Amino acid sequence: MMKMEADLHIHTTASGHGYSTIKEIVMAAREKGLKTIAITDHGPRMPGAPHLYHFTNLMSIPRVMEGVEVLRGVEANILDSQGNVDMPELVMSDYLDIVLAGFHDGTGYTGTTAEENTAAMVAAIKNPFIHVISHPGNPQYPVDMETIVRTAKDYNKALELNNSSFVVRPGSFRVCSQLAKLAKKYKVLVSINSDAHICYNVGENAQAIALASRADIRKSQIINSSAGILSEYLNWHKRQSNLVLKKA
Ligand SMILES: [Zn+2]
Ligand SMILES: [Zn+2]
Repeated sequence: MMKMEADLHIHTTASGHGYSTIKEIVMAAREKGLKTIAITDHGPRMPGAPHLYHFTNLMSIPRVMEGVEVLRGVEANILDSQGNVDMPELVMSDYLDIVLAGFHDGTGYTGTTAEENTAAMVAAIKNPFIHVISHPGNPQYPVDMETIVRTAKDYNKALELNNSSFVVRPGSFRVCSQLAKLAKKYKVLVSINSDAHICYNVGENAQAIALASRADIRKSQIINSSAGILSEYLNWHKRQSNLVLKKA
């Protein structure tokens, strides 16, 4: 069984519908032997989500807590077919270590067809400040998965296999299986995360790992399988986004 050194998708009480503090999450991560976690509360457009100040103040959180590296992140909401998200570029570039983005209810996103969803997700993948597309295998927002996987490959972005999807997003197993097979075929990067909304679920990813293993996805293809792969991935994207900022 593969083991991940990092869990890059975790919600705290700040999300409004999360139930654990950062301290509780860090303690759970330490018990499970994780080296790194990312705190990725929902972007401001999600009902109950924190104000922008939550994200610009993440600098108050120590870089390392109880021996666990804590990355400052967000799970932003994809808002439209242009791939706009509810997080200003400046906050993503200057305040956050990692940006996840995905579709969520109640955020004002109006796309319904696979065509609309695919256009929106492709645009998000191309956004140089976004690192991971969260739960692209959510059947509630159907996409043309081959287009998504090929675009992620072109832009060196990771697609998430989200362990919570099997519980909270009905029908995810089939779509995520398809995603895993295509990820293998095109050698696209993936990220396997818990999407924990309570400390007990931190680092829980057995079903997503089983799915990845069945598709023969290798450890080297998973950005959070080791702290080394992860920092290499984040540093590569930091250089890319810095180039964009200099051009602007
Ligand atoms: Zn989500
Ligand atoms: Zn989430």
